Amino acid sequence: MSIIDDALKANQTYAKTHDRKLAGRPYPKIAVVTCMDPRLSHLTAILGIPQADLDVIRTGGPAVTDDVLGELVVSTRVLGSTEIMLLNHTGCGFTTFTDAELNAKLSKETGDASPAPMRFFSFKDPEQNTREQIKRVRSHPWIAREIPVRGFVFDMETGLMREVLAGS
Ligand SMILES: [Zn+2]
Repeated sequence: MSIIDDALKANQTYAKTHDRKLAGRPYPKIAVVTCMDPRLSHLTAILGIPQADLDVIRTGGPAVTDDVLGELVVSTRVLGSTEIMLLNHTGCGFTTFTDAELNAKLSKETGDASPAPMRFFSFKDPEQNTREQIKRVRSHPWIAREIPVRGFVFDMETGLMREVLAGS
């Protein structure tokens, strides 16, 4: 049995108590862009925001890619989110390599360099990463001016979030 096979079995049990009202449309209040890191999965506890209010967009880092910008536009313009939070963190796996290093390593390990150069959006400094993200989101013409865009670094040691200002 694989993890996915176990998950399918667990889903049968879950479905017995599933809230059927969820079949309607979602009404998120805030879009949160954060890392794929499993330590950031419990956002309802970390942020104290109910699950139903959270539009969570996750990428490695996180990286604010063109796809993420598209999702933020939909979250705020179509679904109704009124705030955007960019949540980085300390100890991110994407700070442990550079894109060039990983491209070289995988080309060598697999013997196939055809996907290179692949963009992994590695970075070194989560605060700098956050500042760039705020600017990127804030400057998008389809993200409305009145939507607050605020960035934070979650400290894995303390569990506390530290705000990063775009201009600092
Ligand atoms: Zn991460």
